[in-house]
Amino acid sequence: MLFLYLFDQSTNNNYRLSQERKQWSLCDFEIGRALGKGNFGQVYLAREKQSGFVVALKVLYKAELAKSKVERQLRREVEIQGNLRHPNILRLYGYFHDESRVFLILELAANGELYKELQAQGQFTEDVAARYIAQMTNALLYLHSKRVIHRDIKPENLLLGLKGELKIGDFGWSVRTGVTDRRSTLCGTLDYLPPEIVEGRRHTEKVDLWSLGILLYEMLCGKPPFEDENSYETTYRRIISVDLRIPNHVSREASDLIRKLLVYKSGERLPLRRIIQHPFITKYVPQGRRTSSR
Ligand code: AMP
Repeated sequence: MLFLYLFDQSTNNNYRLSQERKQWSLCDFEIGRALGKGNFGQVYLAREKQSGFVVALKVLYKAELAKSKVERQLRREVEIQGNLRHPNILRLYGYFHDESRVFLILELAANGELYKELQAQGQFTEDVAARYIAQMTNALLYLHSKRVIHRDIKPENLLLGLKGELKIGDFGWSVRTGVTDRRSTLCGTLDYLPPEIVEGRRHTEKVDLWSLGILLYEMLCGKPPFEDENSYETTYRRIISVDLRIPNHVSREASDLIRKLLVYKSGERLPLRRIIQHPFITKYVPQGRRTSSR
């Protein structure tokens, strides 16, 4: 039975999770309040008893995973995320399971979802957006250097750490380059998908550049550029014709960066290293502090 235990989040993680490679079980954790609900279960605040280390414990129900046929996807997600180490990528410390559930031991993102913050504020100021985009760019440089394509960048998959730093928190659609069929299934939310995926063509890590452009637009304008609430078809057509309309309040530098990322031909999108040097980023993000928080 879960022992419900509420504790002070603010005093957390001056500790290290003990024996990172050990075989975990539920008995190793005190379980606190629910942090949120996902598609296949819930996420709880939890503390490892031995070290006092505070984590987020994601509980997934095996029956739900089987019903949706996502067991292989979860295995791939765990394998990929478990091997990544970057300040802007949510750590997956380990996992364990019992008869009916799988538990993922995740880094706690103390400030919750970026999506909620964007909803609360409507849109971000350009300096805030620039810092988030710089952090995303650094995380993607790291991911691509590890030959991982994320493929599902959107505010719902981004979490915020204790100091407001951005953390990519969901690797459900990520793949390793060269491992899978590059014509693989349509994935992610239509609003964030690049032309090559919606048209079912081969795709590479350049899909993440397109999604970064959509993310920047949504941060500054409050909604993704090709969204049509009534028609999936319209969104599809607007994506493949790159029917981009940028509102007047968006600065010249930000518009330029958006236009250089939302390019139909994937090979012509601005590479990650050039994003970091783009005037929209350099205007707000001091040299050498690319992964810092707000
Ligand atoms: P998910 O199943 O990943 O969609 O998670 C469901 C909800 O739990 C999210 O929307 C977040 O609000 C919360 N959550 C998930 N992972 C974490 C985490 N590592 N730290 C804090 N909150 C989280």
